[in-house]
Amino acid sequence: MNSVDLVKSLCKFRKIPISRLEKDLNFSNGYIGQLKKGTFPDDRLKQIAEYLGVTVNYLLGNTDLVMCPICGFGNNPLSEHSELEHLEFHQKFLNLKQKYPFLMNYSDSKKNQLIAIEELRTHHNPEKRADIFMKYFQALYSQELQMNGYEEIYGMSFNSLCERQIDRTLAHSNSYDGINPETIDWLNKKYNIKYNSNVVMENSKYYINDDTAKAAQEIFENKELRVLFDAARDASPEDLHTVHSMLMALKRKERGDYDEGC
Ligand SMILES: [Zn+2]
Repeated sequence: MNSVDLVKSLCKFRKIPISRLEKDLNFSNGYIGQLKKGTFPDDRLKQIAEYLGVTVNYLLGNTDLVMCPICGFGNNPLSEHSELEHLEFHQKFLNLKQKYPFLMNYSDSKKNQLIAIEELRTHHNPEKRADIFMKYFQALYSQELQMNGYEEIYGMSFNSLCERQIDRTLAHSNSYDGINPETIDWLNKKYNIKYNSNVVMENSKYYINDDTAKAAQEIFENKELRVLFDAARDASPEDLHTVHSMLMALKRKERGDYDEGC
């Protein structure tokens, strides 16, 4: 469908007379009917997209879906079923956001996660790092909730996710983006994370096998891979090398780079 047809279909689906759209947007009466090429000037296309709550990309016919900026649901605005599904999803998101005000949709949480990883490289003040870690944990918990269809997760509270993440990141406490006891103290103080840093320091050797630790460090230092990777504490070095190769192959595939074997 061209842009004009899409606008006509959407108006029909939502029972909005074309004449009303034209009037509301200060277009002349009959304007849309006389557009024979099926296209709009850019500024008007933008106006119509805003009016109908869709994107310019959608009206250009580049996609069937419009992503909700709040809950992140990919909605087909010409499908009643999709609209209903979205309403339900959206409501669940809003309900959960009352309990977790930091809750963000999937794409925002991915963005924030990456920003936090970047920021940890440049900020060394323990208090500032506590803030960044908190932002990171919130992004991760938002992803957990999203994967659970925005239902409450009973097995893992936000606090237990923070503790688990502190545990994991402690394994890398010597590297620039690790966490140290001072930062953990700030997290405890500011955000009431009940993490005992004394216990932590005794257990700071995360991987039991030294070779495993080395292999894990190699993966951890590769930023692309680390986002995908959470290693098990008792993994063997061979396990990690396998995972490493698999992840590299996946990343190559993602980039459309098939010519290398793995
Ligand atoms: Zn929504």
